[in-house]
Amino acid sequence: MARYGFVIDLKKCYGCYTCQLACKAEHLTPPGIFWGRCLKGETGKYPTAIRQALPILCMQCDDPECKKVCPTKATTKRDDGIVVVDRKLCIGCRYCVLACPYGARYPVPQYRSYFEEHKNLPAPLEHSTNPFDDYARAKWFDKYGEGINTKCTFCHERVEKEMQPACVVSCPAKARYFGDLEDPESEISLLIKTQRGFQLNPEFGSDPAVYYLPPR
Ligand code: SF4
Ligand code: SF4
Repeated sequence: MARYGFVIDLKKCYGCYTCQLACKAEHLTPPGIFWGRCLKGETGKYPTAIRQALPILCMQCDDPECKKVCPTKATTKRDDGIVVVDRKLCIGCRYCVLACPYGARYPVPQYRSYFEEHKNLPAPLEHSTNPFDDYARAKWFDKYGEGINTKCTFCHERVEKEMQPACVVSCPAKARYFGDLEDPESEISLLIKTQRGFQLNPEFGSDPAVYYLPPR
């Protein structure tokens, strides 16, 4: 069985935020929900200052803290390593939000619209003035809803159709790779082996499935 994973090449990533936006466009997540994010940091002083981008997402940990603390067993790990949330079982208690060492869980206590005129209206609306808003809201309620805690799932619906995750195909720098960590000959396994791939904060002990290649 595959264990799906990511490699993100920090030499190639220039922090354009396309992955962050592609994730939002793919999943139509409400305002403030960023399953994939691109962080930025700076060290040193001019003329030797260095600016570095660090894209992060749910690490699909092999030993996920979010699963351990879930009181209703809404959070589970699939055989392919992807950690998923059952919307029918999730009670929105936020234990997973507190437990996740990577800050990868996003509570949605109540749906919010991007469009100011809809922000205080109850969902779902019977009609609205904005067709995109209607579409986004309907899609969200179809798959997720309210009172739950959400997360990146490596775009598993796309993966099941043999497509790559949205953030991988959209990255203009080709800094993101997706594949099978269990296969020693897969592109990601070879990149990790030959280019000093590392996990973020391995001391957390959860064995993330997202690896990074060093910036230089
Ligand atoms: S899309 Fe690619 S280059 Fe842009 S921030 Fe994301 S990983 Fe970096
Ligand atoms: S990164 Fe956080 S949300 Fe993702 S599997 Fe690990 S503990 Fe769970």
